[in-house]
Amino acid sequence: MPDRDPELQIRSCRSCNGNYDYPIIKSRATRFYCDNCALLPDTVRAVLESMNKRIKAIEKKLAPKPAPAKPPTPAAPNA
Ligand SMILES: [Zn+2]
Repeated sequence: MPDRDPELQIRSCRSCNGNYDYPIIKSRATRFYCDNCALLPDTVRAVLESMNKRIKAIEKKLAPKPAPAKPPTPAAPNA
């Protein structure tokens, strides 16, 4: 018997950004929302989701970028 159901995925909640296993029998979690957020009213979840999107965008902007492959800098003109 496998330790982990191959169907089981670790998903990231669109609303709170938490990780959760999906699908779990008897869990209220959906493909997009974790167990807790699935209980929230649609309007509240929509607000959280838009906040989460903004936070992710900000995190992406702040994340250190991998050094771009720079073209060789032109040699300084000899004075
Ligand atoms: Zn959630």
